[in-house]
Amino acid sequence: MLTLDQALEKMLTALPRPTQHQTLAIQQAANHICAEDVVSPINVPSFDNSAMDGYAVRLADLAQSMTLSVAGKSFAGNPFNGDWMPQSAVRIMTGAMIPEGADAVVMQEEVTLNEDGTVTFSTLPKLNQNIRRVGEDVKKGDVVLTQGTPLNSVSLPLLASLGIAEVAVFPRLKVAVLSTGDELVPVGQPLEQGQIYDTNRFAVKLMLEKLHCDVIDFGILPDNQEQFEKAFVEAQSQADLVITSGGVSVGEADFTKTVLEKVGSVNFWKLAIKPGKPFAFGKLENAWFCGLPGNPVSALVTFYQLVQPVIARLSGAHYQCPTQLPALAKTPMKKGVGRLDFQRGFYRVNEQGQIEVEPVGFQGSHLFSAFVKANCFIVLEQERGNVSAGEIVTIEPFNHLLA
Ligand code: AMP
Ligand code: MG
Repeated sequence: MLTLDQALEKMLTALPRPTQHQTLAIQQAANHICAEDVVSPINVPSFDNSAMDGYAVRLADLAQSMTLSVAGKSFAGNPFNGDWMPQSAVRIMTGAMIPEGADAVVMQEEVTLNEDGTVTFSTLPKLNQNIRRVGEDVKKGDVVLTQGTPLNSVSLPLLASLGIAEVAVFPRLKVAVLSTGDELVPVGQPLEQGQIYDTNRFAVKLMLEKLHCDVIDFGILPDNQEQFEKAFVEAQSQADLVITSGGVSVGEADFTKTVLEKVGSVNFWKLAIKPGKPFAFGKLENAWFCGLPGNPVSALVTFYQLVQPVIARLSGAHYQCPTQLPALAKTPMKKGVGRLDFQRGFYRVNEQGQIEVEPVGFQGSHLFSAFVKANCFIVLEQERGNVSAGEIVTIEPFNHLLA
């Protein structure tokens, strides 16, 4: 049996990063991955400006007198252009250009307006107080986005703020999805005896959409060699990655194997994880291949733990390993030694400020309904046995794929 880490390493060493990219207007670039480091063409702010509504002053003037006349105004988009006479201040608004020579802005709340139009300051401001200096946020030439960053509602507006209208993106990954099994029926049809609804294709498609892939749906394949062959040949000619579910467990694997050997080379692994023991990975003529186990819990867990990093690599994205946190086991947990266990759990922060967690419902890989109550995986190490209440366990809060 392979460990999860061994499987991940085998896959990630085999998989290339994308090499091609295209340029898109930033308005069209959402849900793509940035293909090149982006360098700022400007300083931000591009001019010294005020952080407050108030008065721009020279400290030398205030050293003479704490009461100054007002020389004029500087508004955002409308700078002060007059002569700045000694012993005067400039009325200034947030975002307005700092008049040359000013070394602080005093907020208006700290200033007294006199009847003769002069202003009196109560305390001496600090040098540079309330002044946003050129390049304080971004310097011209700074790398603001690195290759692999997702283009989303933060990164794209950043480009807009720098006046960058176009961005190099990796092509979106094309992923063919199919479910295998004579027993499967698409939702919307009545069930005949011995049939079940196809859950996995639906789940996988939703997760692929969240990973910004273009999905090609190949439907349900009956367990029939000829149809398998036809579908696999077609799927791998259209897609960058083919994902199937079912048909990789002992017994069926031989049949899938025979077909896949004709179109590529695929390894059938027994993973030391629970759920999700059988998993297939390899290369078809034109596409990569991941074969998920059929049980829906196993299919989701293996997709999350193994296919998510595969997709990140193939689409050029930075991959962030799931966040792991220590948590207090609220109840005992059953665990057999020998496999890394991903139990579905619910965690919360208790009144003492500790994270506590308990498994949701029964944990069989064929028992899907409890999954909806979970908000994390409880990750129980391979060599660990049963867990008693009060022990510390590791949890992985679900990311956006399952949340
Ligand atoms: P298999 O890996 O094909 O032997 O399937 C293992 C178990 O998962 C069987 O009980 C199948 O009926 C079930 N199964 C396979 N594919 C799906 C699917 N797409 N949706 C729901 N259950 C499935
Ligand atoms: Mg099957």
